[in-house]
Amino acid sequence: MKLTVLGCYAATPRTFTNPTSQVLEIKNHLFLIDCGEGTQVQLRKYKVKFSRINHIFISHLHGDHFFGLPGLISTFRLLGRDKELHIYGPKGIKQAITLFLKLGDSWTNYPLIFHELETSESELVFEDDKVTVRTVPLIHRVYTNGYFFEEKEAPRTLDIEAARKFGVDRSQFNNIKKGVDGVDDVGRTIPNKKLTLAPPAPKSYAFCSDTMYNENILPIIRDVTVLYHESTFLDSEEHLCQKTKHSTAKQAALIAQKANAKLLILGHYSTRYKSIELFKKEAEEVFPVVELADDGKVFDFDV
Ligand SMILES: [Zn+2]
Repeated sequence: MKLTVLGCYAATPRTFTNPTSQVLEIKNHLFLIDCGEGTQVQLRKYKVKFSRINHIFISHLHGDHFFGLPGLISTFRLLGRDKELHIYGPKGIKQAITLFLKLGDSWTNYPLIFHELETSESELVFEDDKVTVRTVPLIHRVYTNGYFFEEKEAPRTLDIEAARKFGVDRSQFNNIKKGVDGVDDVGRTIPNKKLTLAPPAPKSYAFCSDTMYNENILPIIRDVTVLYHESTFLDSEEHLCQKTKHSTAKQAALIAQKANAKLLILGHYSTRYKSIELFKKEAEEVFPVVELADDGKVFDFDV
């Protein structure tokens, strides 16, 4: 599992800071999460292959999270894309994008499939044999969802050393991989667990932006491996959270602590602050393992 942060600052794009967008690589998928203005430029800069993006998850329809989408969709067309593109986002996103395409008479020549969201309950929006994606309903000024990406538990793998030790013939290997017990050369049953190795623990990633402090998300993201939680403000500006429906670094850390996350990544910083290190310092007072997102930063969770 690997995360590339393309942009992680609040509000407007500026010379050195980009609005929200990130790429999560998980079990051979490249999921694009949010698509602020300039996302396609950032994708090129950080050498993310456009052709590997088949699913785009949009949290909400504020410009700093989705103004890059019409441009990216039209670039896909210019690049000759013919594969389906799935877009998950709040109800209205289809109408918004369709209007752009209609007015420019620039319909895509590839299937554009919208999955519009409108419930305030967490729902499963994507599943294959290796990964699930669920929404994380957030509290913001408009209808907003975070997303919870979770690997499925992989099957146990054959332990050839153990099989040899127990005298289990290789003709049984395929069955053992499927979970069947083995039989040794004198006919004794060897339990499958003794002939196989446990898979690595499944990893998960929760993207929670934009939102005010909301403990209702805890049951959905409980024991998450990596939590990305917005921290627009520091505690000194906590009074702005209620009106703007954003969080402080301290509040993000409280969510990480209560959810039993392994790692907290902060982002969506207001540009009013001199240094983003202040966010880390504040969060670490509550939760010990904190990283700062920054544009272009790559987090590899497999190492
Ligand atoms: Zn917003």
